[in-house]
Amino acid sequence: PIPANFHEIYEAVKESRSRTPAPVDTVGCAILPVTLSKEYNYKLSPQNYRFQTMISLMLSAQTKDEINYYAMNNITKYLVNEKNSPDGITIESMIDLDESKLDELIFKVGFHKRKASFIKKTCEIVRDKFGSEIPKNITDITSLPGIGPKMGYLLLQSAWGIIDGIGVDVHVHRLANQWNWVKSKNPEGTREQLESWLPKNLWTEFNPNLVGFGQTICGSRGKKCNLC
Ligand code: SF4
Repeated sequence: PIPANFHEIYEAVKESRSRTPAPVDTVGCAILPVTLSKEYNYKLSPQNYRFQTMISLMLSAQTKDEINYYAMNNITKYLVNEKNSPDGITIESMIDLDESKLDELIFKVGFHKRKASFIKKTCEIVRDKFGSEIPKNITDITSLPGIGPKMGYLLLQSAWGIIDGIGVDVHVHRLANQWNWVKSKNPEGTREQLESWLPKNLWTEFNPNLVGFGQTICGSRGKKCNLC
């Protein structure tokens, strides 16, 4: 059943989100490709949007949206200016990019060395096994190196509009437990419990709403209860 306090709190979160812009709104993984295409003035094809969203999600684990933006921007700047790739991050330009150079460009993100290696492997698999397209189901998506269920469900949603699960990151996990909507020690458990009662029409907006609220008002440290 839906927790008794859900509607009241969720409405308050949405209200707060409508007043306070959050990093997730401009540099969150699903919007970052659009932000970059405007900055570098290229036309973002749907296929490239999907691909860039995947790269951005792969960089995002344990990394703040702002740092993720910095890394994505660094790669794009390098590819556009030094590698003659006017569309920035594409599957071809990423396959051509040296792993050590990639690692250097993303050095500010957490676990950058591992992520650079995963990204290089994943790009080749996407090209060779999936015809350079992001797979359309969670099994194939999570077969890619460096992509787990949390990322996979978010990617399915942003890339293909397929809502198969709720994306649970540190903010969603922390807040859902804080408000007693779930009782779970790990994000996977939180996702399963949320999916058992959260109405499906809220599954897509739920993640950015809670992430933005966690980023601006109710973080793990420094809660702004006076603004809440
Ligand atoms: S900011 Fe304070 S009042 Fe608001 S949800 Fe977080 S802990 Fe509660």
